[in-house]
Amino acid sequence: MAHALVWFRRDLRLADNPALLAALDAGLAPVPVYIHAPEEESPWEPGAASRVWLDRSLRALDADLRARGSRLILRRGDSLAELERLVAETGAVSVYWNRLYEPACIARDRRVERALRALGLGAESHNAALLIEPWAVKTGQGEPYRVFTPFWRKARQTLVDVRPADAPVRLPAPPEGLASLEADGLGLRPPPGQPRWDRGFWSFWTPGEAGAQDLLEAFLDGAVHGYREQRNLPDRVGTSRLSPHLHFGEISPRQVVARLRGGEWPAELRQDVEHFLGELGWREFGHHLLFHFPHMAQENLDPRFRRFAWAEPDPALLAAWRRGRTGVPLVDAGMRELWATGWMHNRVRMVTASFLTKNLRYHWRHGAEWFWNTLVDADLANNSQGWQWSAGTGADAAPYFRIFSPPAQARKFDPRGAYIRRWLPELAGLPDEALAAPWEHAELCRRLAPDYPLRPIVDLKASREAALAAYSGAGAAASRR
Ligand SMILES: Cc1cc2nc3c(=O)[nH]c(=O)nc-3n(C[C@H](O)[C@H](O)[C@H](O)COP(=O)(O)OP(=O)(O)OC[C@H]3O[C@@H](n4cnc5c(N)ncnc54)[C@H](O)[C@@H]3O)c2cc1C
Repeated sequence: MAHALVWFRRDLRLADNPALLAALDAGLAPVPVYIHAPEEESPWEPGAASRVWLDRSLRALDADLRARGSRLILRRGDSLAELERLVAETGAVSVYWNRLYEPACIARDRRVERALRALGLGAESHNAALLIEPWAVKTGQGEPYRVFTPFWRKARQTLVDVRPADAPVRLPAPPEGLASLEADGLGLRPPPGQPRWDRGFWSFWTPGEAGAQDLLEAFLDGAVHGYREQRNLPDRVGTSRLSPHLHFGEISPRQVVARLRGGEWPAELRQDVEHFLGELGWREFGHHLLFHFPHMAQENLDPRFRRFAWAEPDPALLAAWRRGRTGVPLVDAGMRELWATGWMHNRVRMVTASFLTKNLRYHWRHGAEWFWNTLVDADLANNSQGWQWSAGTGADAAPYFRIFSPPAQARKFDPRGAYIRRWLPELAGLPDEALAAPWEHAELCRRLAPDYPLRPIVDLKASREAALAAYSGAGAAASRR
């Protein structure tokens, strides 16, 4: 049986993996390969939290392959050079992979495809990551969509026959003696002697395909009931938490959709299911935008913000935001959740992002970069979209003048302060009514929360007004053009 290389990247699963199945369908023996080449994703090389996740995900994939008679060949270096080396070592006649949509990956993959074809090899790519590929839906004028609702209305219609494939039961072993690095050799974990800041992550997460399936089942048994309401409450597991698994392709959105559709949902639950599908739709939309507007990871999608008067970051204030020491409890609780778990609840992501871009008026890039390094689900499409949406600079963004009030958000979505108390234990002794805005209860705070900043690093009301004034300036600049 001739061999084919199956080049794994962010499709770290065996079920519903079109590249793997295509190799098998072609009657070839797949050699599963992962090549660590972070420089090729520059300037968005995987951040620290992504790397520790990847380390575990690759080990899980290797274990799943071994359970079926195969194993994962790990290499490091230039992707094309390593693929060519592996072709020489295995006699493979083709290379199969699943597509990525980040600009640097698209450019690299095109180069690889051309080079492999020039060598007379088969080179075939598939869609494993999305429900609808970015070019598959267009407006009536043949343009990419810039607004979510019409995008999803159209895209949703294409989801008729969603049938994910099962994982192969057995796989042939790769040629004997084929060299592979140890996972430790990829340098994904913090080096010895450095603090293991990720230690706390693993009571929340189990990277790998089985961990993803468990979360999906737990979601269908639990949080999907009442998802529309509960998804906004950060103190509970009200969402699926599938984002890192989806990012690394440990589960496919097709699998999620098929499982949702397979359920016999009572009428009152259908709206929850539909709402959840809509969130997957936002993920699709983010990829659609990034594909058509590849500059969106660094530049405002809304050109009116080109000359917006962002403030020059004060390193001490930026550090206070990063460490969860702003003196604004909901913001700080979110930033501490992020540090402790590598994840932050969506509502709190919006609040922390609004605080950085509106109250501090720092360019959203400063926040996007921190999230990129600290989120286990850091994803260029979703992160860029989330930050531009929050900053009001995106294609389909919240208007800039809609500025979140962290105390109002805390009173509405964390009314008993359970989320704030969980992540800010130094505030645990304060009464519920003081938790959203402790500076309004200064005397109480001095006594009961002496370790927490007495007042916010920026005056919320004055900074809000300054941001609105700056926004009117940007709007005026746009209308003058
Ligand atoms: C400033 C900011 C930055 C963000 N950065 C990222 C990021 O780097 N990676 C990332 O995956 N998401 C990002 N998001 C979107 C969202 O916060 C997360 O996808 C969500 O919190 C993940 O939790 P979940 O899996 O429990 O979501 P669920 O509510 O269970 O949703 C299911 C899936 O839908 C997708 N999804 C949900 N909400 C969104 C959204 N608003 N935009 C795009 N996709 C969505 C995710 O893949 C998610 O796993 C960001 C949002 C903001 C406001």
